[in-house]
Amino acid sequence: MAALNIPFMSPGKYQSCHEKLAGHIHNKACENMERAATEEANLARELGEVDDKGHPYITVVGDGARSKRSYNVNYNALSGVACVIGKITGKILFLGVRNKYCCICERAIAKNIQPIPYHKCYKNWDSTSTGMETDIIVEGFRCSLEMYGLIFLRLVGDGDSSMYNKLVKTRPYANTLVQKIECKNHLLRNFCRKLREISGKKRSTSKNCAVPIFLRKHVLKSILRIRTACSKAVLYRTNEEKPLTEKIQLLCKDLKNIPSHVFGEHSKCQEIGYFECKPNQS
Ligand SMILES: [Zn+2]
Ligand SMILES: [Zn+2]
Repeated sequence: MAALNIPFMSPGKYQSCHEKLAGHIHNKACENMERAATEEANLARELGEVDDKGHPYITVVGDGARSKRSYNVNYNALSGVACVIGKITGKILFLGVRNKYCCICERAIAKNIQPIPYHKCYKNWDSTSTGMETDIIVEGFRCSLEMYGLIFLRLVGDGDSSMYNKLVKTRPYANTLVQKIECKNHLLRNFCRKLREISGKKRSTSKNCAVPIFLRKHVLKSILRIRTACSKAVLYRTNEEKPLTEKIQLLCKDLKNIPSHVFGEHSKCQEIGYFECKPNQS
């Protein structure tokens, strides 16, 4: 605007417009989430997923993000967001934001003066950045009955167990215990991370002897193959027409055989009857 020499609204005016618009966006988001919750509730009723008090129960996915990537080392983001999503519809049911920073408050602290008393303060979090996500998701669970008359029975979440532990402690639905389903993507991602960690270890954990670099490099370059083999085994067993317990047992065998298969020992592959590989083929 300045470059084009067009007068623009003052920062104060901009802020007030922003707040007005943000209010509308907020209300619309709430309306949409309520509609999505009704949709999820109806689908649950159709499936007969209703508890003895008539509350439908559903599976939800919970995940969060922070304003700054942690790369598993730097957990110091100033803002975090998280949401709860209905598994069937894929629509957002609950949304929360946590901020550690408010520029008006910070400026007042820097100048050692009192902050403007009635400013719209965005700061609502004083604890660690890692706790933001958990806090929002737990809040979503706590509010679900009151807001939508809906029970979030199963949570599909990342490998981070602290969130689930907090949910168990909070007991959002009195005697109904929330169940946890591990998210496939997060599970595989954590699995690969562990493998990468192993490949970086210069000494073995069990015998504390030196591990030659060519072996570690071999592990490192096989990570993707191991991951793919896991996904393929799951897919194969899922599509088999067998009782679930049998499929699970077979999958256990598959998964235990994967390291052998990937590193060139195929004696059990044939027996399992699933890897189409001949002995001596690497
Ligand atoms: Zn403030
Ligand atoms: Zn094999």
